[in-house]
Amino acid sequence: MSAAPSSGLPSPQTNPEILYTGVFINNEWHNSVSGKTFPVYNPSTGEAIANIQAAEKEDVNKAVKAAQNAFQLGSTWRTMNASSRGNLLNRLADLMERDRVYLASLETLNNGKPYSAAYAADLELSIKCLRYYAGWADKVQGKTIPVDGSFFAFTRHEPVGVCGQIIPWNFPLLMQAWKLGPALATGNTVVMKPAEQTPLTALYVAELIKEAGFPPGVVNIVPGFGPTAGAAIASHKGVDKVAFTGSTEIGHLVMTAAAQSNLKRVTLELGGKSPNIIFKDCDLDHAVETAHFGLFFNQGQCCCAGSRIFVEDSIYDEFVERSVERAKKRNVGNPFDLNVEQGPQVDEDQFKKILALIDTGKREGAKLLTGGQRYGDRGYFIQPTVFADVKDDMTIAREEIFGPVQQILKFSSMEEIVERANKTIYGLAAAVFTKDLDKAMYLSQGLRAGTVWINCYDVLEAQTPFGGFKMSGIGRELGEYGLQAYTEVKSVIVKMPQKNS
Ligand code: NAP
Repeated sequence: MSAAPSSGLPSPQTNPEILYTGVFINNEWHNSVSGKTFPVYNPSTGEAIANIQAAEKEDVNKAVKAAQNAFQLGSTWRTMNASSRGNLLNRLADLMERDRVYLASLETLNNGKPYSAAYAADLELSIKCLRYYAGWADKVQGKTIPVDGSFFAFTRHEPVGVCGQIIPWNFPLLMQAWKLGPALATGNTVVMKPAEQTPLTALYVAELIKEAGFPPGVVNIVPGFGPTAGAAIASHKGVDKVAFTGSTEIGHLVMTAAAQSNLKRVTLELGGKSPNIIFKDCDLDHAVETAHFGLFFNQGQCCCAGSRIFVEDSIYDEFVERSVERAKKRNVGNPFDLNVEQGPQVDEDQFKKILALIDTGKREGAKLLTGGQRYGDRGYFIQPTVFADVKDDMTIAREEIFGPVQQILKFSSMEEIVERANKTIYGLAAAVFTKDLDKAMYLSQGLRAGTVWINCYDVLEAQTPFGGFKMSGIGRELGEYGLQAYTEVKSVIVKMPQKNS
């Protein structure tokens, strides 16, 4: 199989070699303590492509020990200049740049996302994220504080300690970078669990971490299952903080485990059902295309997907018609083909869950205008699907579908839309399309979401914080705000001499 480099990108490696399948502790590769392994699959075909060592509680114990040792006062990592930590992160970014085609190809093989997106979006943003946090390493500073009495008070922003990081399968490399960047810039050590479906790129990056020169034990990667390896991290008394991205359901479990073990710090980046509000005074061509992108990007597997599209009544029919036309043109197929926009869903479970939700949509009376079926007869491809006449109380308007299924609803007034847009347990993102600045700014206050995009969607840069209101999460990742969750503030108060002795 080869793909023509029609879009100017370097050609992918359509059969990238899988080099690392072990548990990464102390910069070494290990077999799992139990000897168990698990298969990972190519979602384009459903075929197993590798067997991965299955880390469980004992492996997590070993990884936490390694991370604790690396964090000890006086260790190479703790005594390293902050600027040198930044250099290491930049070196890691350089190595990812060097191996960018390979990493993007491996991501496509294991996750199913189009290579063009893996190369131009996932790799681009992951590398930029690491470089962004490399720059912060020697700029995280405390304050001096005027206190009453003859004292000198200052604050230190110290690393939290051992950070457990549990990441999902929808953006394996990017979620790894979002987690490693701030944790390492601020001097923490890490035990990370990639998603069971997509551990391959995380494990390759582990080898790059070693090549970059990070001391042993600073980053440990334990591939495995959520209820075993993931739960062991969340409940480990030696883990000082847990950062989790995934479903709201598992977010509850992680937070409960953190509370019941050692009150470790918790940040959660969870699900969403984000409203995308299209006013009649918008640039319609731009709104249709951006709403399409905001939902279908990454096979619809985005926590911030614009999955409730509210369109003002006077342009509703035209918007729906154009959205259906656009969805019908969406190029689905072999994700290594550079012209393909949509690959398979990540696995059979997600594939079945999405098809079941499509059936529910039909049953509850939404109008299916295109798609709704499996695409092809191999792998986990789903046709780009558009539902119109969706009502707020329908299941497809309330539950996260996490697939290529667009729901278009109608609204008629500003008064109504704020309430309807906010009527959800989630609050991750929202968008507004209008040329009227007053409307845009009014909604930017009224929408209860961690990010509000105006006339754009999915603009996710390392500099801007990202996270959720309500049940979409706790805390923020990215930007300067993303550093807060990885530091503890310590006050140091020194008695000042009263006279010259
Ligand atoms: P998930 O179960 O929440 O998985 C996310 C991560 O948590 C994975 O690494 C998972 O391990 C781990 N995990 C599972 N159970 C755990 C436990 N008891 N303790 C600690 N960690 C645990 O998500 P999913 O099953 O992959 O997807 C289900 C739904 O979640 C999707 O349909 C979508 O709605 C949502 N989702 C959201 C995001 C997001 O970016 N917010 C990302 C992915 C999925 P395993 O890999 O072994 O499951």
